[in-house]
Amino acid sequence: MAFDVEAIRAEFPILQRQVHGKPLVYLDSAASAQKPRAVIEAMTRAMEHSYANVHRGLHTLANETTDAYEAARRKVAAFIGADEGEIVFTKGGTEAVNLVAAGLGAGLEPGDEVVISEMEHHANIVPWHFLRERQGVVLKWVRVTDDGALDLDHFQSLLGPRTKVVALSHMSNVLGTINPAKDLARMAHEAGARVLFDGCQAIVHKPVDVKDIDADFYVFSGHKLYGPTGIGILYGKAELLRALPPYQGGGEMIATVSMDEITYADPPHRFEAGTPPILEAIGLGAAIDWLSGMDRLAAAEHEHRLYRRVRDGLSGANWLKVIGEAEGKGAILSFTVDGAHAHDVAQILDRYGVAVRAGTHCAEPLMRRFGVTSSARASFALYNTEHEADAFVDALTKTQAFFA
Ligand code: PMP
Repeated sequence: MAFDVEAIRAEFPILQRQVHGKPLVYLDSAASAQKPRAVIEAMTRAMEHSYANVHRGLHTLANETTDAYEAARRKVAAFIGADEGEIVFTKGGTEAVNLVAAGLGAGLEPGDEVVISEMEHHANIVPWHFLRERQGVVLKWVRVTDDGALDLDHFQSLLGPRTKVVALSHMSNVLGTINPAKDLARMAHEAGARVLFDGCQAIVHKPVDVKDIDADFYVFSGHKLYGPTGIGILYGKAELLRALPPYQGGGEMIATVSMDEITYADPPHRFEAGTPPILEAIGLGAAIDWLSGMDRLAAAEHEHRLYRRVRDGLSGANWLKVIGEAEGKGAILSFTVDGAHAHDVAQILDRYGVAVRAGTHCAEPLMRRFGVTSSARASFALYNTEHEADAFVDALTKTQAFFA
């Protein structure tokens, strides 16, 4: 079955718009993806027909909304091969990492070690830095090779008796590198550590089965997965979630409260204090339904074809430096243009209707590793076209001429 990108595009109203009088070429999906009508309509329908707070009502709308919210949890669980009790709704991937770091951190002693890597997003760095600052936990950093792969020998050499947690990206938001999660989990477990994967990017581009990987924790955001902002997912193995202390306190996460003591609800509700992101969960459920109706391997191949087309189109560009060329990488192109600041490159590209990201991509240690202060990044999604890939090559070539 051919991958029908035009049919897919037609489902994204925003892709019809123009920017500075040019057709929008949206190459910033790694920061946040656009939303298909199925997601927009699911959220609108909920607000127009069946909306109330969840879990605490005895009336029809509350029950309907609770059903829709819990159905979304089941959709997420099925999407990654988990049980519904193992899915916690958070406000984003960032909050999910913070929840795990705070919970696991409560059991760590000074000198205990957390292994992260040079390619992590700040979301998977700063929560572990808190443990270093506050508790004397030691951070160990896995090196990244020159082509942007994780140095597996170095990873192995960092694992030891004090390693308590391994927290690694499944796919880098800068390099596009896809890390061998199953191997990493096995190595971490052999060392007796818990392993968390930051799946914010990987989940968008490849089928993920958390049980096959044997992840202890797996986190991602809704908004990169064609769903809304304000929702993230923490998957945790049932027995590990049960052992994790609560993160935030409030309504819904308790079993009983008295003046002298509290008892907590079971996971996942223990970690969902207060009114949760109800509409956002429903929207994410719709995004997952929408994605599940798609040939995801064909989508990944399509994205990769666009990446190759851009690389080929720029093969003669001696002014371009690409960061991240690891084998099997996903369709993310980070680059610098000789003599130009990445912010200027992005702003000029915008005049041609091309949206790319520029800056440190919340990955300052990685920028330092590659000796740059910033880079520009074009990221490809399943709704991008070959025509857009060519438009990007053309716009970037014209942009470079400003700096030549
Ligand atoms: N990890 C990675 C690899 C990311 O790309 C991002 C988003 N840029 C995050 C974590 C954080 O996700 P969010 O901002 O949605 O919480």
